[in-house]
Amino acid sequence: MRPPYTPARMATLLVILAHPDDESFGPGGTLAKYAYHGTSVHYLCGTRGESGTVDAERLNGYADVAALRTAELMCAAKELRLAGVHFLGYRDSGMAGAANNDAEGTLHAAPLDEVAGRIAGFIERLRPDAIITHDQYGGYGHPDHIKLHRATMRAYELLYGIEWKLEPNGLWSVVKQNAPAPRLYFTVIPKRLLKLGVRIMPLFRQDPRRFGRNKDIDLAQIASWDVPVTTRIDTRRYLKIKQAASACHASQQLPAGRSRLIRFLFRRNQGFEYFARAYPPYRRDEKLETGLFDGG
Ligand SMILES: [Zn+2]
Repeated sequence: MRPPYTPARMATLLVILAHPDDESFGPGGTLAKYAYHGTSVHYLCGTRGESGTVDAERLNGYADVAALRTAELMCAAKELRLAGVHFLGYRDSGMAGAANNDAEGTLHAAPLDEVAGRIAGFIERLRPDAIITHDQYGGYGHPDHIKLHRATMRAYELLYGIEWKLEPNGLWSVVKQNAPAPRLYFTVIPKRLLKLGVRIMPLFRQDPRRFGRNKDIDLAQIASWDVPVTTRIDTRRYLKIKQAASACHASQQLPAGRSRLIRFLFRRNQGFEYFARAYPPYRRDEKLETGLFDGG
């Protein structure tokens, strides 16, 4: 077994994702791995998940959905040993085209530079060595995820004068920059597995184009959004922690019967998490990375 990752000094990792639960359902194993080895891991959450669908009885004891989901996030943060949880202060929106997406105060309706400015403020305060956010497709296409991706890219322009270019192969390059920047990663859904899932779902009488708690996720389309994986993190020893953190988000779990298929789909891949590195730009001749920080 490889020796555990030991940072040369106390490093800081800043995770910028849209909703309470994105941190655990997504890169939770990676966050736990770094946090348990002494990295200071901060979560900057775009919203409090107020548009999430929640069963009425779960709201007992909470003022509203935002309060419930904030409490769930704090529970997950404890499991993952996060050093801090911060909020950008926006309301969340539904999937593309949902009513109220353009309402005042939503992340969706906020001007890009305003969101980028708030993110830049947190980056200046926390001085992270690496940042994780959503990929350019927002993972499964959620408008809040896409908005935070764009706003984080814009924050790099504002802070470091970075001008980005998306290459035809799906990798990002830097046209120019004024100052060195923290490493930047996007969470990536491994598409090979998803393509397999889309093929076998009809065998389970499930429609891959109407997936998820709200049946508004089109897995067939998502499988066609290719983001090259540059980094694969072995999180097998942190799987239990990721599961405990995910369990904190009880209001967002899929109904019991459906989760069997998901468990089947993801069992093969459990224990590994995937990222695309945008900064420093990934060179074609580089090997697949196994850590978020240079050498670990
Ligand atoms: Zn989300």
